[in-house]
Amino acid sequence: MNSIDIRGVGMTSQRTRERLIQRLKDHGINNQKVLEVMRVTPRHLFIEEALAHRAYEDTALPIGYRQTISQPFIVARMTEVLLSQGPRRKVLEVGTGSGYQAAILAQLVDEVYTVERIKPLLQKAQQLFKKLRLRNIIAAYSDGTVGWREHAPYDAIITTAAPEEVPDELLHQLAPDGILVIPVGPSGDQELRVITRQGDTSHYDEEVIERVSFVPLLSGTAVS
Ligand code: SAH
Repeated sequence: MNSIDIRGVGMTSQRTRERLIQRLKDHGINNQKVLEVMRVTPRHLFIEEALAHRAYEDTALPIGYRQTISQPFIVARMTEVLLSQGPRRKVLEVGTGSGYQAAILAQLVDEVYTVERIKPLLQKAQQLFKKLRLRNIIAAYSDGTVGWREHAPYDAIITTAAPEEVPDELLHQLAPDGILVIPVGPSGDQELRVITRQGDTSHYDEEVIERVSFVPLLSGTAVS
């Protein structure tokens, strides 16, 4: 686990941050650790400067390359669900994007592995992890539809882009009792699913928890 040293990274307005945390609570987020980590993580550093003044609004924002940083409520919800059945040590994220979700996770679990298919996004995120001294995030430029075999199995996998169907390979990389938090479906008709592996079997319990809107999970890496 890791914690962000907020000295020297600018706090922007403390009040707008507190307002966001209150909003998350009002919308049902009640894991105190998740709320605290979201309170201290400088979301404004993960978006372009021109939009930084909107960093603590509860909305998704563009991060270039036609991708978005997820809405804070969705980040909080997915993180809370991922931790709902007890602590998780090793987590894989598919879709690093800005790096914000990975930065939140890195303060709540031991190791975060994250993959991104757009190289410039990955590089920018890696610089931020360094700046924020989040040394327990291991990031790579690769296609996450096949997970990241080298480091599998994972106690939890979170996908922040939506496939039309759950990739089998992600299920196969779950540790016993592992949990997969994943948006599924075509654009405009997606649901957030929570899939839990039953012990060390190949049986999975599945639950739908929200209607959501994510960018699509695309196969292969982007040509840069
Ligand atoms: N977690 C990110 C959300 C970024 S949006 C954040 O906190 O900012 C989702 C990201 O998934 C995009 O950057 C997109 O390029 C990436 N993505 C889509 N398909 C992918 C794939 N097959 N492998 C890895 N990354 C993928």
